Amino acid sequence: MKSPDFEYVKAKNIEDVFASLHTYKDSAQILAGGQSLLAMLNLRMANPQILIDISGIDAMKGIEKIDKIVRIGALTTHNEILNSDLVKLHVPLLAQAVPYVAHLAIRNKGTIGGSLALGDPAAEYPAIALALNATLVIQSAKGERRVKAHDFFISLYRTAVQTEEVLVAVEFPVASANQRFVFLELARRKGDYAMVGLAVALTVDGKTIRDCALSLMAMDDKPVLAPSAMLALTGKQINPDSILSAQTALDTDLDPPGDLQANAATKKHLARVLLSRALEQVGESHV
Ligand SMILES: Cc1cc2nc3c(=O)[nH]c(=O)nc-3n(C[C@H](O)[C@H](O)[C@H](O)COP(=O)(O)OP(=O)(O)OC[C@H]3O[C@@H](n4cnc5c(N)ncnc54)[C@H](O)[C@@H]3O)c2cc1C
Repeated sequence: MKSPDFEYVKAKNIEDVFASLHTYKDSAQILAGGQSLLAMLNLRMANPQILIDISGIDAMKGIEKIDKIVRIGALTTHNEILNSDLVKLHVPLLAQAVPYVAHLAIRNKGTIGGSLALGDPAAEYPAIALALNATLVIQSAKGERRVKAHDFFISLYRTAVQTEEVLVAVEFPVASANQRFVFLELARRKGDYAMVGLAVALTVDGKTIRDCALSLMAMDDKPVLAPSAMLALTGKQINPDSILSAQTALDTDLDPPGDLQANAATKKHLARVLLSRALEQVGESHV
């Protein structure tokens, strides 16, 4: 299918974007890397009157460390994140996840802001943002507001970004020496969206887990934490018993809808498998 007709404007700066959004409101759609939106247009899943191309706004690009955060501009591409030493050093969970995002050609154009603003529950960045308690920076003509990942993802393809607002950056906390991270996912083919994915962030004290975040992809209409499994691991060391209790608790946390890739029972089974693999990986290498 071909896309519907639409007008097009290339914004020179963020003020241009706000002006166009103010004029066209809900009938406008922002175009970043186009790696999801262009397909959605061709499939007639989107029908905007106008596309506002933000890809030329340099102020929304780049990765910088500011004290205890790493700030990534919304227009930073997946490949720029993949090749960033700052990300490897200070946000290792994100560094582990980027190779799973799509394929090289898509990673050259697709942006972190586009992925987060789209809010696909099977995408990697939303789950990473949730696991790391990231802050999403949203701007409008009225100013800036900051939203925690927990409040940002609302439901399928719905986020806290409102009409006349733009996601301009995401801020991740800098990892500390007593944190351990694992990202794992299962997909039918490399580069496909995941059937199930798991992001693990542990804070340890010697061999004991002091704090724990388990964030899952493709298990609901948004990325979800697994509070019972997180509680089951807190205060414990990693061993076969604690892994088993965490897996049992995880079962009570998850109630996934089946989808074209797997039914609910298979998804829950795969989540348990990923959890044991992730914990074994941490246990073998660090704790
Ligand atoms: C074959 C294929 C496989 C893929 N596999 C994966 C995968 O495994 N994992 C994965 O995570 N992704 C995958 N993707 C999607 C890819 O990562 C996209 O790059 C990403 O989802 C969207 O980024 P974009 O910059 O291309 O955004 P666009 O396509 O330009 O925009 C996406 C949506 O976000 C909105 N938007 C974009 N930027 C902003 C902003 N700054 N503020 C507010 N709204 C904004 C747009 O209006 C649109 O609704 C795949 C895509 C394809 C085509």
